[in-house]
Amino acid sequence: QGGSTVSITVVGASGDLAKKKIFPALFALFYEDCLPEHFTVFGYARTKMSDEDLRNMISMTLTCRIDKRENCGDKMEHFLQRCFYQSGQYNSEEGFAELDRRLKEKEAGRLPNRLFYLSIPPNIFVDVVRSASRAASSPSGWTRFIVEKPFGRDSESSGELTRSLKKYLVEDQIFRQELVENLSVLRFSNLVFEPLWSRNYIRNVQFIFSEDFGTEGRGGYFDNYGIIRDIMQNHLLQILALFAMETPVSLDAEDIRNEKVKVLRSMRQLKLEDVVVGQYKGHSKGGKSYPGYTDDPTVPNGSVTPTFAAAALFIDNARWDGVPFLMKAGKALHIRRAEIRVQFRHVPGNLYGRNIGTDLDKATNELVLRVQPDEAIYLKINNKVPGLGMRLDRSNLNLLYSERYRREIPDAYERLLLDAIEGERRLFIRSDELDAAWAIFTPVLRELEDKRVAPELYPYGSRGPVGAHYLAANYNVRWGDISSDDGSF
Ligand code: NAP
Repeated sequence: QGGSTVSITVVGASGDLAKKKIFPALFALFYEDCLPEHFTVFGYARTKMSDEDLRNMISMTLTCRIDKRENCGDKMEHFLQRCFYQSGQYNSEEGFAELDRRLKEKEAGRLPNRLFYLSIPPNIFVDVVRSASRAASSPSGWTRFIVEKPFGRDSESSGELTRSLKKYLVEDQIFRQELVENLSVLRFSNLVFEPLWSRNYIRNVQFIFSEDFGTEGRGGYFDNYGIIRDIMQNHLLQILALFAMETPVSLDAEDIRNEKVKVLRSMRQLKLEDVVVGQYKGHSKGGKSYPGYTDDPTVPNGSVTPTFAAAALFIDNARWDGVPFLMKAGKALHIRRAEIRVQFRHVPGNLYGRNIGTDLDKATNELVLRVQPDEAIYLKINNKVPGLGMRLDRSNLNLLYSERYRREIPDAYERLLLDAIEGERRLFIRSDELDAAWAIFTPVLRELEDKRVAPELYPYGSRGPVGAHYLAANYNVRWGDISSDDGSF
């Protein structure tokens, strides 16, 4: 690749996501020597700024990795010197032509590859793709677009957005943002898990995502979408598909996506009775008061947009017939976490369950894959407490990444950018996958909106609506919780 260069343009550079995530991720990649030798970063937005203003703005959020502080200042300076800013309108070909002119200057005759990261509200995706692809495509290298979620509001709008983008781009230029951890390694490179991965041994699987803060004055965007579109229909469903898919032919992106699509297409459409929605309300605790969702000035009065949802999903195939896949996602809950919990069946004829006075739940195994806050994998097993009596105790076989691997885990945005630069599509969604995903959720989203189903209110900082427990109980499931038997974490 001696003579090539890559230019990364962050469209919407003045925004929150660009500042908080995208520029820091680019710097981290640069720091780790993961960016090509020749690269340029451009910010593009309407706000008037000079190159220097952009540098000042992003230098506030760049950080150095904890374990390698040496040379960080120098590296940061080098990085900032490669960052530039161009202001312009989103629907203006002239604006992007001006950007093109400056890009060419920096590319200085090398083979130019160009990546556009659309960090802007979804209603202007198509404008930007039209203007940028016409006026600022690479003349001889590749041109790729990363599109942030949310990708549409339902089957129709997502299909329409895809059709519009395809007027200007071919499928392999579009990278629809999706963040998922690589579950497959655990499953397919360890002999002990795969044989258990079916209805024969697994009683239910839970996908849990919770945040311990609300919209905090930024609810305007969220209110149009709600938690089901924001988290469930994309993040959690993708993780579910990776979890439940058959072994792919290879680790090639297309092979993996073929298996994921099969899972999604085997899923039942979600029904209203299998969904619980909630919304947080104001709450005072320890002298401090926390605002409710509708107290957010950017949220319309009387909004019934869910900030919490729980759902029970089913995959009608041979491997998973009858196994409930439960999802739970919410804002302003008591804890921040993202995890998958696999609850195994009871040991048949449980010898110990009968006489030790523990309830049956205690006697089953549970595998927890935690992504946040501290990445960890642990398996809950039953053990005999040392001594003359027969007392069982549940303890964890655990792998806490931060202890085992003393290095910082890269941010998901770093992976995403690196994959897009390298053309690796493993983490990005294909349009048929997106269609299948929307088909599961669209009818219930419609029904919730048509009937204006009132969300169950829950206090800011609580565990969420009790309805979620009844939903799980309908399928004989109890939500796994971070509790005392999770040990020190
Ligand atoms: P943002 O701050 O609201 O918008 C980014 C930039 O877009 C703004 O600085 C503004 O730049 C321009 N913009 C905003 N509203 C506009 C409008 N109505 N018409 C034209 N331009 C407008 O958004 P963000 O929080 O950075 O997020 C960017 C994208 O990522 C969104 O699609 C969002 O849904 C998604 N996302 C955000 C987060 C997050 O943590 N913030 C997380 C996941 C996904 P100028 O005025 O300078 O042009």
